[in-house]
Amino acid sequence: MKLFKNQKLTLYNSFSKKKEIFTPIHEGFIGMYVCGPTVYSNVHLGNCRTFLSFDLVFRYLKHLGYKVRYVRNITDAGHLENDADSGEDRIAKKARIEKIEPMEVAQNYTIDFHQTMEKFNALPPSIEPTATGHIIEQIGIIQEILKNGFAYEKNGSVYFDVLKFNETHHYGKLSGRNLEDMIANSRELEGQSDKKNPQDFALWKKAEPQHIMRWPSPWSDGFPGWHLECTAMSTKYLGEHFDIHGGGMDLKFPHHECEIAQSEAFCNQNPVNYWMHANMLTLNGQKMAKSTGNNILPNEIFTGDNTILSKPFSPTVTKFFMYQAHYRSILDFSSDALEATEKGYNRMMEAFKNLNSLSTGKESTMDIAAWKQSCYDAMNDDFNSPILIAQLFEAAKFINSVKDGKASITPSDLEVLKTAIHSFVFDVLGLQEESISNTNSTKLSDTITLLIRLRKEARENKDFATSDKIRDELAAIGIHLKDGKDGTTFSL
Ligand SMILES: [Zn+2]
Repeated sequence: MKLFKNQKLTLYNSFSKKKEIFTPIHEGFIGMYVCGPTVYSNVHLGNCRTFLSFDLVFRYLKHLGYKVRYVRNITDAGHLENDADSGEDRIAKKARIEKIEPMEVAQNYTIDFHQTMEKFNALPPSIEPTATGHIIEQIGIIQEILKNGFAYEKNGSVYFDVLKFNETHHYGKLSGRNLEDMIANSRELEGQSDKKNPQDFALWKKAEPQHIMRWPSPWSDGFPGWHLECTAMSTKYLGEHFDIHGGGMDLKFPHHECEIAQSEAFCNQNPVNYWMHANMLTLNGQKMAKSTGNNILPNEIFTGDNTILSKPFSPTVTKFFMYQAHYRSILDFSSDALEATEKGYNRMMEAFKNLNSLSTGKESTMDIAAWKQSCYDAMNDDFNSPILIAQLFEAAKFINSVKDGKASITPSDLEVLKTAIHSFVFDVLGLQEESISNTNSTKLSDTITLLIRLRKEARENKDFATSDKIRDELAAIGIHLKDGKDGTTFSL
């Protein structure tokens, strides 16, 4: 029997703003769409958190026995720099700066994205469609919306008529806004664009002469508006009505709001039953931003080549750290927090390694069946990974007690425990078996820390020959020391 028959999943629906019992449209099958990356730069750590949150959702749904079709797009027709349909296409801009084809930009960063997700051991989606591969579908939807009277053409561009739509539908129902307030707060001056109202958004934009990425359409040579691709690709692969739509919190408005409006204007169908939004990541208590330097790329974490963390951290430890917070809470990334996570992770994996050599007894001093159900209860409660991890730490503590002869377990309970730990650690959380290399990396970093301390002592004793020797010989084997105001850090 499939696990989902007994395990009742509830999830927080951003649309109703409450936790709901999850019931798929077709029993046993789930359609899930997640907005993917725009491939004009290396994937952002905050985006990684979003994709890892939905990897956990995907993995748990599969674990429960559902057949999941998970669609995550690649935005390779760059959004304009400004969501208000103006500015330069971000992929085209990068292509101009780097003097390469826009599709080379998209390809380079798609590869980077895939490699990063692979390092994190995230499963690939079932379908990964691209925006540029679905121009015909997007044009088709625009034609339908025009025919239904919810859009208008002006000077070769087509805009969604938000005011007209709002007469019969509610624009703003996902984000909890209403159009009157949006109009009152709107700052766009009249006559600055072809739009009838500032709230209208582009479905098709006529390309300026210098715009490289362009396609023919009934209205002009141009390109689709940035909300449209997700409507086109989700409809094509999951149908007009599907189960779960996910994305980062920042996409709720306007992107997801516009997706709902487009679907309703196109086929008079609210497209999604459950909306899920993953929260953001901050760095040392501040919003991450390239412009302020308060930013770190996934690879910079893994290599230690950064000025923020004291040492390198593995993808598994980084992911384990992210899962120690619930996907809907803001998570702060810092060196201290990662170091604590790494210690905890190694301790837990060390305990699990003892599972195979544990001796069994006549009785179990821990209720293993109840413990296992509490792991499911955690995940059934809106994918509560921090509670699941707390349960795994409980199991690790118990295993160590059995090993020390302070607790006991029956042979059959031991089998249940082994299977459950394997399922939750590797299948659901998707952690990798790197405990040995991890232990080695901890030993390596402890050794380097020792050398850093000896070098500091040498410098304090004005023995610069020794301190330079330590630095240079470490550099010769690829370990670079960096002196900063908070002490010395290293990268590999
Ligand atoms: Zn999207």
